[in-house]
Amino acid sequence: MKILVAVKRVVDLNVTVRAKADGSDVDVGNVKMGINPFDEIALEEAIRLKEAGRASEVLAVSLGEAACQDVLRHALAMGADRALLVETSAELQPLAVAKVLKAVAGREAPDLVILGKQAIDDDAGQVGQMLAALLGRGQGMFASAIEIADKRVEVVREIDGGSETVSLALPAVVSADLRLNAPRFVKLPNLMMAKKKTIESSSPEELGVDVAPRLKRVKVAEPAPRQAGVKVASVEELIAKLRNEAKVL
Ligand code: AMP
Repeated sequence: MKILVAVKRVVDLNVTVRAKADGSDVDVGNVKMGINPFDEIALEEAIRLKEAGRASEVLAVSLGEAACQDVLRHALAMGADRALLVETSAELQPLAVAKVLKAVAGREAPDLVILGKQAIDDDAGQVGQMLAALLGRGQGMFASAIEIADKRVEVVREIDGGSETVSLALPAVVSADLRLNAPRFVKLPNLMMAKKKTIESSSPEELGVDVAPRLKRVKVAEPAPRQAGVKVASVEELIAKLRNEAKVL
């Protein structure tokens, strides 16, 4: 069984991003970048399935500029067998990413595609669902557990107020939630070895996909600064404030 994992290069989780002065976008110049945390979980799951003898190959795919090679090397160091960069300098919106991944899936014929449940930069949470629809395959989004058996995948999904289990015929598309696993620590020797591995390359043009943006970003603004808090001298004062001054925002 072949597993395709989509990995996005995003601003590091710990970086506080700022809006550009002209409000046109987020300023990512000179900030630390890394693998999208949910994609690392997706990769970990694919590699565990391989280690358990349920999968034969794990292919990591990233779309974006040449710099995305670093997240692909991270994927190889974790244990992915192959890495593919679909290189483009175009602004990629979720529908374009889904179309490119569909084209890659058309070539590679994976039995399972695992994505992150969302990219922490755009927080769209759309690519997995769009990809499943474009491929005409079943989808198990927000997975907290995955079990493969008899050409089917059973996915426990995080839903409001609990969990739901769905059974999908393979090939299928699954997205990883936080509780699916804790990704392994990548050791330095593995990173060094991954540096020697070949990263395959393609482009949206070669795959025959038009990635032109369909949505126009109108404005990016930072949240209003939080107002300073006040200290109260007694429980009575607190209750009075809650009763007379507190407002539901
Ligand atoms: P989103 O719908 O943008 O929140 O992204 C959901 C998931 O799609 C991510 O967690 C990734 O697995 C995948 N994805 C989105 N953009 C890219 C990209 N540029 N390259 C590779 N995978 C991506």
